[in-house]
Amino acid sequence: MTRPSVITLDGPAAAGKTSIAHQLANVLGYVYFDTGLMYRAVTLAALDRRLDIGDEDVISRLAESVVIDIRPSAADPDAMALEVDGEDVEDRLHSGQVDRNVSAVSAYRRVREALTRQQRRIAARGQIVVVGRDIGTVVLPDADLKVYLDASVEARARRRWQEATRKGRAENYDEILAAMRRRDSIDSGRDVAPLRPAEDAVIIDTTEMTMDDVLNTVLRLVEGTQVS
Ligand code: C5P
Repeated sequence: MTRPSVITLDGPAAAGKTSIAHQLANVLGYVYFDTGLMYRAVTLAALDRRLDIGDEDVISRLAESVVIDIRPSAADPDAMALEVDGEDVEDRLHSGQVDRNVSAVSAYRRVREALTRQQRRIAARGQIVVVGRDIGTVVLPDADLKVYLDASVEARARRRWQEATRKGRAENYDEILAAMRRRDSIDSGRDVAPLRPAEDAVIIDTTEMTMDDVLNTVLRLVEGTQVS
């Protein structure tokens, strides 16, 4: 009997997935793999090449041809960095322009199929915490432990706003809330791999929890899950 080797962490934006997965991977000595960065990388590559985001065929062919891989970040060895065709794109994946276009790109079926293949290849190495929207449902349905982090949209928008304020960026709460509602609705409403918990996922509502509480809850789940 051993610990779960493949752990999935799904949920909407700003539910705390990144922070929890990062800490969990540190505690367990696992790799932390954020699949949202892959959708962001394809979106960034499309914007850099001035491709039409609305052209499904063009964007799909791009997703099918780029090779995306993860490696430890040079800035923070505990974090993960992404290479697209061997180029480091770490810094540019969270721009406003990528935020605005990523949900459209990730709704395309062939884009998802191409990235799902790459995600399975990376996760096959094991001892990994994989973060996303459809990891427990579609990408790794046989994962050893599946967690779904949720929180009210207002709590998630508040967290994003606090994070921006902490980093010295003046952003408007109502705009963040509206953008988050828009992204939730595209992610949950799309035909292919919509955002939803897997039937065998443990759902944690983090609205009223601190991140320490969430981490401890997930760690208890890890310890309580034995894989033969
Ligand atoms: O998690 P993050 O906010 O970086 O994800 C960016 C976008 O990528 C999400 O809003 C969603 O549209 C898409 N995504 C996805 N499936 C995943 C991970 C992210 O569709 N597994």
